[in-house]
Amino acid sequence: MRILDLTLNGFRNYESFRCEFDPGVNLIVGENAQGKTNLLEAICYLSRGAAFRTRKEAELIRFGAEFAELSAQVESYGRQQSLRAVMFAGRRPRQLYLSGVKKNTREELDGVLNTVLFCPEDLLILKKGAAERRKLLDDALCQLRPKYAKALEEYKRLLAQKAAALRDQYERPGMLELLPDYNERMAQTGAILISTRAKYLLQLEQRAAEHHNAFSGGKEQLRLAYQTVSTVTDPTAPALELYRQLKEHQQSHYRAELESMQCLSGPHKDDFEASLNGLPMKAFGSQGQTRTAAISLKLAERDIFEADTGELPVLLLDDVLSELDPGRQDFVLNQIRRGQVFITCCEREKLTQIGKTIQIENGAIL
Ligand code: ATP
Ligand code: MG
Repeated sequence: MRILDLTLNGFRNYESFRCEFDPGVNLIVGENAQGKTNLLEAICYLSRGAAFRTRKEAELIRFGAEFAELSAQVESYGRQQSLRAVMFAGRRPRQLYLSGVKKNTREELDGVLNTVLFCPEDLLILKKGAAERRKLLDDALCQLRPKYAKALEEYKRLLAQKAAALRDQYERPGMLELLPDYNERMAQTGAILISTRAKYLLQLEQRAAEHHNAFSGGKEQLRLAYQTVSTVTDPTAPALELYRQLKEHQQSHYRAELESMQCLSGPHKDDFEASLNGLPMKAFGSQGQTRTAAISLKLAERDIFEADTGELPVLLLDDVLSELDPGRQDFVLNQIRRGQVFITCCEREKLTQIGKTIQIENGAIL
């Protein structure tokens, strides 16, 4: 998959912008607040039909402008197509077009241009709380496996209902009668979540470890260990077995859930632990190691996507170079040789030998 060119009118700080891209590495250089991240945001918007930094579409429209227009030529599955999005300052809903044909939902653009985005907040994903890592797994799996997306949605709905029943058990005791039903369905959908996550994590570990090893010059071995409900002995076991083990956990926590008025059983607290050469990263990982491992996870996510769909997503790396030593910076700039990559950075002296450097100043190409 790749983007051939991009045209922006009235998007963020871009009044009118047009640029053709390299099929390999595109290095976007400029000082702070010149529009580097905005450019990645535009690409992301065309890829997903939604912005990654804001939910408010109005913020994407250049101050004082009536509308914003984004368009790109993209190539995927051997076909060239055009993507276009227009958003308006007033109440008029935004419009999406694929090769000139208006589309009503963003799902209709699925598979035309896939992107894997890595932004500064992601650098600390292995240091932060479990929720961030769960989101990493869930986001990737929801894109790859429609069955997983459905199960996750149902599980979250059941969890909210069960949590409300436990919380309001004195005000509305009748709700407790529904607990066995919630538990039953949560064990069924929970088993799907666990087995899918466990299998995906094995793939992720294998590929991320290869990237991390190359990144660190062969010195560091990355491992990922899935952590789920304690009664689950083998998370890759068949769903029926997982279902039984989840029921067992629910039963042993029945009293505790009523007393704490909280939902204590199920895969909604899942996590995975990353370690380097046997040492858990959360406690012992250095800044650079943590960042490198996080980038390796994203590269692995991209590989798996390719293995599943046959197309390599476009990689968007926002500001990832700053805390890496020269060897690791070189890896990002020169060793990710597959597919199309966009990398933003501030230092002008950063050079890539294998692509194009685009200098941005105040929403324009220098
Ligand atoms: P850094 O190196 O600090 O990350 P950057 O080059 O990535 O900088 P961006 O985040 O792309 O910077 O652009 C930020 C600039 O865009 C800000 O100065 C902001 O005021 C401007 N900007 C954001 N939204 C709009 C808008 N709707 N209209 C006009 N300008 C905007
Ligand atoms: Mg930026």
